[in-house]
Amino acid sequence: MSQPRSVALLLTGNPTVEGAGVRLNRVFGYPEVPKFDPFLLLDDFGSDNPEDYLAGFPWHPHRGIETVTYMLSGEVEHGDSLGNEGVISTGDVQWMTAGSGIVHQEMPRRVEGRLRGFQLWTNLPAASKMMEPRYRDVPADSIPEVSPHEGLKIKIIAGEVVGVRGPVQDVVVEPEYFDITLEPGADLEHPTPPGHTVFAYAVNGRGKVGPNGTHTLDRGQLALFTEGDSVLIRASDVPFRFLLVSGKPLGEPVAWSGPIVMNTREELATAFREYQDGTFIKTQP
Ligand code: FE
Repeated sequence: MSQPRSVALLLTGNPTVEGAGVRLNRVFGYPEVPKFDPFLLLDDFGSDNPEDYLAGFPWHPHRGIETVTYMLSGEVEHGDSLGNEGVISTGDVQWMTAGSGIVHQEMPRRVEGRLRGFQLWTNLPAASKMMEPRYRDVPADSIPEVSPHEGLKIKIIAGEVVGVRGPVQDVVVEPEYFDITLEPGADLEHPTPPGHTVFAYAVNGRGKVGPNGTHTLDRGQLALFTEGDSVLIRASDVPFRFLLVSGKPLGEPVAWSGPIVMNTREELATAFREYQDGTFIKTQP
């Protein structure tokens, strides 16, 4: 029998300054560990004032995690220690596996109108924390969009809907990452693997979440769901755009300092020592 998930937690992001002075909204992060396991952090960076984002995120290291950057509008220039360079543009996704370590910079470009994007951090299990770094650059035109019924559109970044699979595959935590739009009054019932962590984040508009539409979700709010095997979400009187994300919890200890997330304090100390020593990068270009 189907058991729809209820709402375990409603969160509104906190204004935060990160990088060299980027104003963003941190929806969840360090204080929420381990509620979102395998996810660690979600940032919503959006502003129509370039002063809020132009300082960007100059050179910094990552180890032990994956970062998933999704640009709704605007551009971020990316460069790293492996010699990779590129631009993440409107509608593109970059799924970066830091693994044993990368040092990179992420610099938003000045745009007309609003810059808006999201960065999600996904944890790596102990067995994969020191894996070779890898990138998946997912251009907007490679992200399939399906419409299972009237008033419902789903962009599939990772996961599968009505037999259509998203381009990001072979990730340990079996993530689903959807960008969903519901027209007023339309709804979504989506099966989710039992035991997986599931959340919805309101990008624009307003919706109702939970089995009886018990909770209202406004722009910038997030609902973390309880255990169950499906989620029910409907739009209210306006169109509702939201991210729906799920993943398999790791259930491992988390030792987290800034951009590095390991399992033990010793591993953290090693990472920072190596960064000072210049031995942090394990993969040569
Ligand atoms: Fe970064």
